[in-house]
Amino acid sequence: MSWRIDVAVHTPAHAALGDLLSYASDRALAPGTLVRVPLGRREVLGVVWRSALDEGEVHAAPPAPDASAMTLKPVGIALDGLAPLGEAWRDLVMFTARYYQRSLGEIALAALPPQLRDLTNVQLSRRLKRQAPPAQAPADHTPQAMQAPQALPVALTQEQSEALARIEAGSGTFLLFGSTGSGKTEVYLRAVATLLERQPDAQALVMVPEINLTPQLETRFKARFDARFGNGSVVSLHSGMTHPQRLASWLAAHSGAARIVLGTRMAVFASMPGLQLIVVDEEHDPSYKQQEGARYSARDLAVWRGQRENARVLLGSATPSLESWHQSRPAAGTDSGGRYQRLAMPSRVGAGALPTVRTVDMNLQPGKTVISGVLLDAIGQRVARGEQSMVFLNRRGYAPVLACGDCGWKSECPHCSAYRVFHKIDRTLRCHHCGFAERVPRACPACGNLDIAPVGRGTERLEEHLGELFADVKRPDGTPVRIARIDADSTRAQGALESQLAAVHAGEVDVLVGTQMIAKGHDFRRITLVAAINPDGALFSSDFRAPERLFSLLMQSAGRAGRDAAYLAAQGTTAEMWLQTHHGQHPLFAALRRHDYTSFAEPELEDRRAAGMPPFAFQALLRADARTQEAAQAFLTAASAAADVLEGADRVTRYPAVPLAIQRVANVERAQMLLESPSRAALQRLLAAWQPLLHALRREPEGKGVIRWLIDVDPHSI
Ligand code: ADP
Ligand code: ZN
Ligand code: ZN
Repeated sequence: MSWRIDVAVHTPAHAALGDLLSYASDRALAPGTLVRVPLGRREVLGVVWRSALDEGEVHAAPPAPDASAMTLKPVGIALDGLAPLGEAWRDLVMFTARYYQRSLGEIALAALPPQLRDLTNVQLSRRLKRQAPPAQAPADHTPQAMQAPQALPVALTQEQSEALARIEAGSGTFLLFGSTGSGKTEVYLRAVATLLERQPDAQALVMVPEINLTPQLETRFKARFDARFGNGSVVSLHSGMTHPQRLASWLAAHSGAARIVLGTRMAVFASMPGLQLIVVDEEHDPSYKQQEGARYSARDLAVWRGQRENARVLLGSATPSLESWHQSRPAAGTDSGGRYQRLAMPSRVGAGALPTVRTVDMNLQPGKTVISGVLLDAIGQRVARGEQSMVFLNRRGYAPVLACGDCGWKSECPHCSAYRVFHKIDRTLRCHHCGFAERVPRACPACGNLDIAPVGRGTERLEEHLGELFADVKRPDGTPVRIARIDADSTRAQGALESQLAAVHAGEVDVLVGTQMIAKGHDFRRITLVAAINPDGALFSSDFRAPERLFSLLMQSAGRAGRDAAYLAAQGTTAEMWLQTHHGQHPLFAALRRHDYTSFAEPELEDRRAAGMPPFAFQALLRADARTQEAAQAFLTAASAAADVLEGADRVTRYPAVPLAIQRVANVERAQMLLESPSRAALQRLLAAWQPLLHALRREPEGKGVIRWLIDVDPHSI
């Protein structure tokens, strides 16, 4: 008897051209079984999607790219030692592939640990026996050294107890709307503990937006659960792990040995047969959206997966995405809101108050002021009392541009429509888009003028500037003020971020300068002042999500100050958040001063509703990359015309093709076209039917080249 086995493999073929390849086998293989199959001259890993008794009617089967080949190649070895991937997991992969317009094989294979591709059955069974938790320690710089994690549960606040009671009594998706420092993590820990204790097979998935935040979380979870459920009950999954570590974690999750999986967005695809609870911490964070390849939103997939598997989903944030906020509003009229249960925790733990927000009117400051005198004094007073301050500027490098005052030359990147950033530390001009770097020229390359100067400032220059300003100030013990910087540049080396954070936690830094990297999530205990030096840029951006991002970033930054009420009391001090702005009257800042997310979100949502924008409409981008802007736009325009006849086209607005804000990167011209519809289903139908047309259109006329295109569903920035 002969079977036809349809297998998901990662081929360059596009979703529209068929997702599955067919192979022959003399036995049926259970769906979800991992197999090795020949593909061209290689052998690759695949996932069995279905088996069918083959009665010589290969062509009657759903079309697969090689269906024209009369004889099917035999399937290779099956990894029998491993339980097949479950139906729920396969459904998640299928949904992701369909919704984000990618191939099944691409999603399925990307969700598996890379090492699975090479292991033999024997090796695999050895790994399964060992099932060791991944070794994962930057030894002394673990957050353990930074702060004693609470191994024992603390007494819950009233708000925490109420939130937990509602989670336990309910089902579905919850939005935990809790201020920074309200103890959301403690709620996660408790919800997980209750579940795991009641049900011996249950598993929980806990996601955080950034790799940086995983060690801190891992420490807290291990401290709480290792003793109770055994070493290895908590594992992590993120891209910063080695391949063997990832495999070990994945196997532990798949076999059920791990009860808790912590991870970044990729963890949403972990195979967890006992999944009952999914936590998405800082659910608003843009990092949950994958920005290359399959552009999925791990937050949205978590909600889908929770529904599919009947698991509770807990979305936590002090500044929820407007999408989630809308879903947690009482359903009104025809709106689709009201699907999530909102749990509010407005107060900080331990009677701690949120920082007082002070604005400095930069219109009244002398021109070119970087740090106003009042802010400088405030920081100085904190230093004198031995407290820490955090100064925040969302731009790294020394200066965004280097310019010649004589002839007007600027440090443009030869490959991109962008300026190269001046990095003083290694005296380079670096393009943050394509990576092109050169030594800073001695003189203006255009006119020879020796006096070329940095324009604007980044964190490096801010750090230098603060050093000068505080040169004569002394700490309480008479030693000089210690200034440190944390951003993508200062943390490139392995372990650098951990040791820099440890230094802050250990009190070895007085003033910390940094980008958004330091604004998120960290549980600093001695920072009592946070300052945003120049937050105005995003106020008038053309990107409709810019205000939302700015507001949450500033709320998060404010959330780093005064987290330890006992410390504030002992110091006899209060926490402050400083904003230097030219637009102090802006409603966004007014809401921030009151720590009032709602009064920011509600009018913003009304604007979105009036303008017919998400969450009241659904969007997708078609992007095209080509050698010339004309070719890229011509492709988009032709694609738009081709869509006219497709089902759903009358319900989907197609906007004209436009260049991207940074139109050329690494000598590639980029353009995009926005699609928008009040109906998600109509948009989805159009996109699916569009794929083969796009594929056919991608060749430039006269064989000049091929357009690279991609579809971004629910794009984050447009
Ligand atoms: P969030 O995630 O909401 O910003 P965390 O969960 O990090 O807040 O809690 C802030 C701090 O308060 C942490 O140091 C945490 O250990 C502590 N904490 C949380 N809940 C309690 C509680 N019920 N009693 C005492 N301390 C708590
Ligand atoms: Zn010049
Ligand atoms: Zn460049």
